[in-house]
Amino acid sequence: MINFESLFKISYGIYLVSSGDKNKGNGFISNTVFQITAEPPRFAASCNKDNYTAEFIKQTNAFSVSILKEDASSDLIGKFGYKSGKEINKFEGMNISYGETGVPIVLNDSIAYLEFKVVQCIDIDTHYLFIGELLNAEIIENISEPMTYAYYRKVKKGFSPKNAPTYIDKSKLEKQTIVIESKKYKCPVCGYIYDDAVENIKFADLPDDWVCPLCGDEKSDFIEI
Ligand code: FE
Repeated sequence: MINFESLFKISYGIYLVSSGDKNKGNGFISNTVFQITAEPPRFAASCNKDNYTAEFIKQTNAFSVSILKEDASSDLIGKFGYKSGKEINKFEGMNISYGETGVPIVLNDSIAYLEFKVVQCIDIDTHYLFIGELLNAEIIENISEPMTYAYYRKVKKGFSPKNAPTYIDKSKLEKQTIVIESKKYKCPVCGYIYDDAVENIKFADLPDDWVCPLCGDEKSDFIEI
């Protein structure tokens, strides 16, 4: 049997993977970027085929990885993690630099970045696994801690959206026993759940200008579940 709860015990980081050029590009939040070999330094990055960024990586044969800091803003996570670049220009208003290969590198809320040229692309049904050789790596700031997936889940109360390789259908998780009768409200954009039982303020008492802490969606959009 598979207890899907055990998959949450695997440690990951939280990254922003970008590709494209000066005219057009896109990026997405990923927790599956990891080093495979030391000499030369090669990394793997998994990307859903439906992700707009996958098209840019295929076209340019290059991508960048920004390593997000722990207190990365909800706006950034909402924009890059839960919205599609087919609908909005995610780089608008962002602090972007361009690498040797010309790919955009997001500097906001990041402590370091890496730039890769793609040396192999492995087709794995729903995802591409891009193998990248490291061309460039730089520290942006040395004060903040990198965000881990555990921190993202526990403190930010985030979860993997449907396109993520680590997405788990909630019906597969063990049912939790809820003792306190309370209301729960779900963000329709990112799935964030506001649970009256664990918060200090009831959802109904939150101010009207309160927004989803994960993606910034408005309170009025939340649905009672
Ligand atoms: Fe949300």
